[in-house]
Amino acid sequence: MSDCIFCRMIAGEIPSLRIHEDEDCIAVLDIGPAEKGHTLIIPKRHYEDVTDGLSAEVLGKLMKTAAVIGARQKERLHADGFNIVQNNGEAAGQTVHHLHIHVIPRFQGGPVIAGWNPTDPGQEALREVYELLKD
Ligand code: 5GP
Ligand code: ZN
Repeated sequence: MSDCIFCRMIAGEIPSLRIHEDEDCIAVLDIGPAEKGHTLIIPKRHYEDVTDGLSAEVLGKLMKTAAVIGARQKERLHADGFNIVQNNGEAAGQTVHHLHIHVIPRFQGGPVIAGWNPTDPGQEALREVYELLKD
């Protein structure tokens, strides 16, 4: 038996509310939703995170499913928008180490869910990081 909670969910060993399933993934309601309708898109195959060798095709399918579920949240829950969030590594907030994409409905005036405080690093620091990250 796998000790990965999402593998166990996919195998049907632990219950989940599946709002969608296809050959590549399931979409389940998050057990601790940030907003009503918060959904997780979970590939059926175990990948630790988005760097774990999944193909562009599978990644594209997961993203497409996230978009379909986001549109459904707008249509059926009357969400005003939605965030697509995907955490990689504990420092980034990943707690379940089986790749998943959060689709979180957003309502006008509701709580900020995915946000950050902009900084002003200056041109020199921006140029330094540009040199480190460019192709
Ligand atoms: P992460 O922090 O790894 O990006 O997100 C993990 C998510 O999985 C959390 O939002 C958490 O609420 C959700 N989660 C953890 N355990 C379960 C579970 O057993 N069932 C469901 N449906 N969601 C879970
Ligand atoms: Zn797994």
